[in-house]
Amino acid sequence: MKRLLENLLNDCRHYTADGRLASYIPELSKVDRNDFGISVANGAKELSFAGDHDKKFTMQSVAKPFILLLALMDSGEERVHDLVGVESTGKPFDAFNYSDLALKRDHINPMINTGAIALCTLIKGETYKDRFDRLLDLMKKVSGNESLEVDEAVFRSETETGNKNRALAYMLKAYGMIEDDAEEVLYCYFRACSIRMTADDLAKMARVLAFRGKDPVSGEQIIRPEYARYINAVLMTCGMYDGSGEFAVKVGIPAKSGVGGGIMAVVPGRMGIGLYSPALDSKGNSIAGIKALEKLSRELDLSIY
Ligand code: GLU
Repeated sequence: MKRLLENLLNDCRHYTADGRLASYIPELSKVDRNDFGISVANGAKELSFAGDHDKKFTMQSVAKPFILLLALMDSGEERVHDLVGVESTGKPFDAFNYSDLALKRDHINPMINTGAIALCTLIKGETYKDRFDRLLDLMKKVSGNESLEVDEAVFRSETETGNKNRALAYMLKAYGMIEDDAEEVLYCYFRACSIRMTADDLAKMARVLAFRGKDPVSGEQIIRPEYARYINAVLMTCGMYDGSGEFAVKVGIPAKSGVGGGIMAVVPGRMGIGLYSPALDSKGNSIAGIKALEKLSRELDLSIY
């Protein structure tokens, strides 16, 4: 497997020259666009990896499945489903062209910013700091990495420049979909996006989702199987922004990308895959990351279809 992954990165490395780094959060444009890493976690204890598999980056939208997970765990499927729908929107992750319609649950899903911001209100905790701390604890548990932490510079940068997200949060409030203070809700969302991790961490988190919520190495059931299934289904239809349909055709597995350049991919019953390459296509997906997944899917016959 290691040889396969090394060859894969060599074959796809030239794609790291394409696309652009996310710059609308200024701090994100400071990363090295040549970084490229992959990690695979299957049923075995040891991971297989190649390239910059242990380089840290911020998870950004890859946090969204875990916001959804904790909202499900804390508030149950019915409340989650009443607040945020599951249909793909076909619009960019930060779209806010709802002006001609009243904002309703049918217009949002948990993998776009509006949906993820709304779901922060269904995480339990006395303060939004408590809610975020519980979210970080959950990610530590799922990744098996106790040292996960927030990149404070990215968090500051998001808070200072996240005007679109601020607009989305206030719109949720204006339409009565959230009751809490919009700034506090945003604190939780921005901090979640700023958690720093590696492709190894993403591979291990994806593995738990791949094995119906169970860590196949320790045997521990970390997530209820029905929640793992819920998340994988939403990842399949909405996880790769408005490129999810094409990704389903070309790669065919549930996955979530983030504008930090990470991709977490779930191969049900087989493995979790983490990738990192920060140059993005126009939709916000890692270009080299997607190319590597396309090739890996063909070589290992990963598509679930
Ligand atoms: N923090 C980013 C934002 O909300 C995350 C976006 C993403 O990765 O899609 O703008």
